[in-house]
Amino acid sequence: MAREAGEGHLAAYVHLASPLTRPSLSSGHPLPVNGEREEREVESNMATAVAGPEIEKLIQLLSKLPGLGPRSARRAALHLIKKRELLMAPLTAALQTAIDKIVVCKTCGNIDTHDPCTVCTDMRRDPSILVVVADVADLWALERASAVNGRYHVLGGTLSPLDGVGPGDLSIDALIARAHEPQVKELILALNATVDGQTTAHYITEFLAGANVKVTRLAHGVPVGGELDYLDEGTLSAAMKQRTLF
Ligand SMILES: [Zn+2]
Repeated sequence: MAREAGEGHLAAYVHLASPLTRPSLSSGHPLPVNGEREEREVESNMATAVAGPEIEKLIQLLSKLPGLGPRSARRAALHLIKKRELLMAPLTAALQTAIDKIVVCKTCGNIDTHDPCTVCTDMRRDPSILVVVADVADLWALERASAVNGRYHVLGGTLSPLDGVGPGDLSIDALIARAHEPQVKELILALNATVDGQTTAHYITEFLAGANVKVTRLAHGVPVGGELDYLDEGTLSAAMKQRTLF
């Protein structure tokens, strides 16, 4: 395991180093030494400013985006600077418009530019189905899959005692109220298959015992394209328990 990590550092170092400083792969240096050298080099690169404070600020802000580290942020900043007219100006305008117009839907918790949101006002959706998700990202993911044509309720997270997230931090009361609306017949709990996600699902289900609504949840099991040999025991066990007629 330690050797694998060392090899990862080595690969990163070889990629970063200039031809003059690139070490020979057969030099016989112990791998952890190379890893330490690589980390020192990355740190020194980060500490050295190569541009004015305005550009460094841009890089620093971009590096806060998910999936972008300091190096990718530098690359993205440089790309934006090179494409100032074509990309940077429209992006700035789009960001400003988003700041001015984005609102949270008071009905479902979705993010949109108007309230109620596009999903809530779409008359083609089945009003009898309410899909409960933890986050707007989950709503968008389900919409990409076109899996269900119902309406949504975004909780704003999942119950997590360790992180101090309790029922009062989520929009559970609003969900219970919506579930009691006469047109709602099914509540689909589309929550993460994690301890927090399933704890939240159980918590909601207990509150809905008296409601005239069918409560379902997403199936747990073999992913599409998954190979059994690579699945963990918990997933395989859940898939076996929830087997369906073929
Ligand atoms: Zn909405």
